Amino acid sequence: MAKFLLFVAVLAVVFWLVRASNRRSKPPPAARGPEAMAQCAHCGVHFPGAESVTENGRDYCCDEHRRLGVRS
Ligand SMILES: [Zn+2]
Repeated sequence: MAKFLLFVAVLAVVFWLVRASNRRSKPPPAARGPEAMAQCAHCGVHFPGAESVTENGRDYCCDEHRRLGVRS
């Protein structure tokens, strides 16, 4: 009976190690994934939406272009 318990314990450790190494090889979900892109209404450059400066529903790449406004 003691041998059986030892066998189960070794299996459990191996299973845990395999799971841990699989988890480590995958990139964390927060690091990748689709990122919302925005387009500057002044210069037209595309950039991550999280960095956008928004005014009157338009996105700008920086505060200077927000002040300059939409390029005609
Ligand atoms: Zn811009």
